[in-house]
Amino acid sequence: MSEPCIFCEIIARRATASFVAESDLAIAFLTIGPLREGHALVIPKRHVVEVPDAAARELGAVFALGQEVAIRQRRTLGSHGETLFLASGAAGEQSVFHMHLHVVPRHDGDGIGLAAWWGTKMHRAERAALDATAARLRA
Ligand SMILES: [Zn+2]
Repeated sequence: MSEPCIFCEIIARRATASFVAESDLAIAFLTIGPLREGHALVIPKRHVVEVPDAAARELGAVFALGQEVAIRQRRTLGSHGETLFLASGAAGEQSVFHMHLHVVPRHDGDGIGLAAWWGTKMHRAERAALDATAARLRA
């Protein structure tokens, strides 16, 4: 028998979590490993592993609840921005294999440095290469 999914255990209230918000298809709670106070995870209530496994309505529910969490973070914690982050699949560096959207409350100059990190990883693509890849993705 495989290990129970910790997020499904949280949904079933067999594992503890600090809940923030809930809708028909999604639920939000605080991560035990926050980057900042109020850092929440939003998950579909159904056991969905990765992005391709989710129904469109589940993705919509997760992002809609993520928006509600962001609004609550701004109102109660004084954040004035947020970073939404979703790692999908082992290659996408997903850690818990029940799809989850991170909603990280952000403040000016909070030192997380996402843009700086991004700048070290990105490269400038040529238009011809972009067009060729886009054509493959449209096929
Ligand atoms: Zn699960």
